[in-house]
Amino acid sequence: MRRITTLLLLLLIAPLSYAGGVAVEGVRLWNAPEHTRVVFDVSGPVEHKLFTLSNPSRVVVDLKGVKLKTKLSQGDGPVLGGIRSAPRNKGQDLRLVLDLKQAAKPKSFLLKPTQEYGHRLVIDLDHVTASKGAAVIAKPVERPSVKPTALRDLVVAIDAGHGGEDPGARGRRGTREKDVVLAIARQLETLLKSERGMRPVMIRTGDYYIGLSKRTALARRAKADIFVSIHADAFRDRRARGASVYVLSSRGATNEAARWLADSENAADLVGGVSLDDKDDLLASVLLDLSQTATIEASLAVADRVLAELKGIGRVHKRGVEQAGFRVLKSPDIPSILVETAFISNPEEERKLRDPRHQKRVAKAILNGVRAYFANNAPPDTLIAAQKPQRHTIRRGETLGHIAQQYRVSLNSLRKANRIRGDVVRVGQTLTIPLSGDT
Ligand SMILES: [Zn+2]
Repeated sequence: MRRITTLLLLLLIAPLSYAGGVAVEGVRLWNAPEHTRVVFDVSGPVEHKLFTLSNPSRVVVDLKGVKLKTKLSQGDGPVLGGIRSAPRNKGQDLRLVLDLKQAAKPKSFLLKPTQEYGHRLVIDLDHVTASKGAAVIAKPVERPSVKPTALRDLVVAIDAGHGGEDPGARGRRGTREKDVVLAIARQLETLLKSERGMRPVMIRTGDYYIGLSKRTALARRAKADIFVSIHADAFRDRRARGASVYVLSSRGATNEAARWLADSENAADLVGGVSLDDKDDLLASVLLDLSQTATIEASLAVADRVLAELKGIGRVHKRGVEQAGFRVLKSPDIPSILVETAFISNPEEERKLRDPRHQKRVAKAILNGVRAYFANNAPPDTLIAAQKPQRHTIRRGETLGHIAQQYRVSLNSLRKANRIRGDVVRVGQTLTIPLSGDT
C-alpha cells in the first residue's frame, strides 16, 4: 500500500519538474543605480557557466540540462538591452544571451528557495562607468564655497532595509517590509532636506537589493556622520508590538530575542544575494576592535534620543536601547542605529505602517532624535556646531587651558567670551565656548 502511495506521489511530482531536467520558469529585473540584477527562477539547482563576449557586449550563460519555459524579457534600464535564448546540445542544454547596451562586469550565483521564491540563478551586471559609483547617492548640490574652511552640512545616511529579491518581513495583509521602510525613509529624506545644516543621503532609492557591507560602504563614501537603518519587525506571536532601537553589540546580544532578530536581519544577504565582500568584513572586524568602542558610545547616545522621541508617538517594545550583532551597523567610525519602527506581524501596527501620516510621524521622531543628539555633539566643522555657542560646565581638575584645547579655541577668546581676566575658574561654573575662528 505504502509503495503505491509513493508511486502516486512520484507521478504527481514528476510533471512539475521538467522530465530529465530543470526549467527556467521566470525572469525578473531589478535596476539599481550601480548594478542591474537579472534573476532567473529555476525549478531546481542548476549547473551554469558564464562568459562574456565583446563587440557588441554580451554575457553568455550556458545551463546544463535545462529547458526554457518562460518568455524572456526585452530588458530595460541603462545596461541590459535584451535577453535571448537558444537550445544547445540537441535541446539538452540551454544558452541564455544577455545583450548589453554598455559594458558591465557580470557575476553570477545561485540562491536557495525562500518563503517568497524558489531556486534562483542570479546575474549581477555591475555598471562600469567613468565616475564609478557617483550615481547611487543623490549628489549634494555644489554650493560655491567662499572659503576653503566653509562649514559643512551634517550628512545623515538613511538606509531603508531589504529591497528587490529580499522583501523582508511580511504582514498578514501582505504588507512588505521593504516597501513601508522605503516610504518612511523617503519621508525622512524630505524632512532632512528642509533642515538647515543637515543633508540626507539615501542608501537605497528604489526597489532593489544592496548587500549589507555595501550599505556601510556607501555611507562611508558619502562621508556620513550618522547611519540610520530603518526596518519593521516580525515575530511569530502577533501580539508583539512597539518600536525598538538597536545599536551594535560587540559582545553579543542583550537578549535572546535580540539575537534572533539580528540573525534574521543578517540573513538578508542570503535572501537578497550572496555576500561577496567577506574579506571586507574580516578587515572591518579587525578595525572594529580598534575604534568601535567610541562609536558604540555615540550610537547609544543617538539611539537614546530617537527612542525617547518614538515613545512620544506610540508604544515602544522595550524601555531601553537594545544591542545586537547587526552586520549593517558595523561601521567602526560612523555612529549607527537600527530602528525597528513597529511589528509588521501585528495587524494593528501593520495598518499604521501603511498609513503615510504615521510614516511621517515615525520619520519626524527619528529626525528629532538625531537633531537632539547633534545639538551637543556636532563635529566642529559643521554648520550646526557653529550655529550656537556651546557651553561647558567646569569639572574638578579642569583648567581654562584644558578647555581651550578641548574646543580648539584660543585661551584669549575663551577669556573674552566669559569676561575672565586671569586663569581662575571654579568647579560648577558654566563657560560659553566661543565659535572657533572668533578671536
Ligand atoms: Zn528588516
